[in-house]
Amino acid sequence: MSKVLIIGAGGVGGVVTHKCAQLADVFTDIILASRTEAKCKKIAAQLKRPIRTAQVDADNVPELTALLEKEKPSLVINVALPYQDLHIMDACLNAGIHYMDTANYEPPEEAKFEYSWQWAYQDKFEQAGLMALLGSGFDPGVTNVYTAYLKKHYFDEIHELDIIDCNAGDHGQPFATNFNPEINIREVTANGRYWQDGQWVETPPLSIKDTYDFPEGIGPKNMYLMYHEELESITKHFPEIKRARFWMTFGDAYLKHLEVLENVGMTGIEPVIYNGVEIVPLQFLKAVLPDPSSLGPLTKGRTCIGCVAKGIKDGKERIMYIYNICDHEACYEEVQSQAISYTTGVPAMIGAKMMLEGKWMKAGVWNMEQFDPDPFMEDLNSYGLPWTVVELKNTGLAS
Ligand code: NDP
Repeated sequence: MSKVLIIGAGGVGGVVTHKCAQLADVFTDIILASRTEAKCKKIAAQLKRPIRTAQVDADNVPELTALLEKEKPSLVINVALPYQDLHIMDACLNAGIHYMDTANYEPPEEAKFEYSWQWAYQDKFEQAGLMALLGSGFDPGVTNVYTAYLKKHYFDEIHELDIIDCNAGDHGQPFATNFNPEINIREVTANGRYWQDGQWVETPPLSIKDTYDFPEGIGPKNMYLMYHEELESITKHFPEIKRARFWMTFGDAYLKHLEVLENVGMTGIEPVIYNGVEIVPLQFLKAVLPDPSSLGPLTKGRTCIGCVAKGIKDGKERIMYIYNICDHEACYEEVQSQAISYTTGVPAMIGAKMMLEGKWMKAGVWNMEQFDPDPFMEDLNSYGLPWTVVELKNTGLAS
């Protein structure tokens, strides 16, 4: 008997709600709450079993606390935006509820994300006997669990880690983002950063390029080095890692549009005055771009996200590649959403399941790689994101 309260009725919220609703014995009672309740009701109407919906502004801590105290769920699954993380954690502490999310906190006024703000809640959660699980999406999320799984089963030490996120899908739009455009563009236009010999090396945005030949017929794609939040927690929890990098594939058309938008100032987050009204250019851009949820029925092709790890086992060097391939159209058929939301929403459901079943349950604030990866990996195979692990002769990266 577990009641969960899901916050956020966007692309990811839709998938988490579908996946939780499919597991009626674990998620016996589901409430979907968001800023716009109509979006919750639209998702609820797609489901085969009834759930309840609610309107809430998660940035209003007293309002959210009151909702949590009234509903008393076992767990809050936060799939609103990273800006809400700390407010939702505060409300969970007030009401005595476990917490989980898929993206680390980011202050709205600064395009910067790091774990320090949420890790600072460690003592508060521990003292309250509550658990907060951070970053239970795909990347972060599954990529952290993949790393822990490789370490547990294939390596004594991992020395080099390359996390590679490939979206080989096509939505047919000249320019659109597959998840929240504001969060996506803030991430892509930020400086790149990777871990090398105990320190961060910063690079200009998208300035390091490589090509990777993706498996199972996806083939070669250009990819670019970016900073991604799991690098921070993975290098902390596996201090033997000498180099850790994150790569994402982008098509030439996406990059051309992004460059123009940046050059004309449309990706800025400083407010400008237009006709006497203050507007944030990036928020205005979000308003005119396609809504990511509208891409679901249009997107064809597959994603391939995984980790290439190089290290040693029994004194010998080895390289392992672990990945998932996910088909956009199959996702749409199952949960009316494309693979980017699907690959985030399924691990969010599994992270919640791990907590509710007590397999991952410990007071404090935790990242995914701090728990036994095996039950999570098993569930990935059972609930829509099967994975493959192969030994490679070389990493396949030029650099
Ligand atoms: P969307 O923009 O599609 O959805 C966000 C939802 O949150 C919307 O329904 C929005 O409401 C709601 N929301 C925003 N502010 C508030 C608030 N103050 N109170 C209540 N609800 C609010 O985003 P996505 O579904 O694409 O992304 C959701 C989360 O998933 C993000 O944090 C994103 O960073 C993360 N993510 C993680 C990934 C991973 O692999 N780890 C990959 C992709 C995304 P409204 O409809 O009214 O705007």
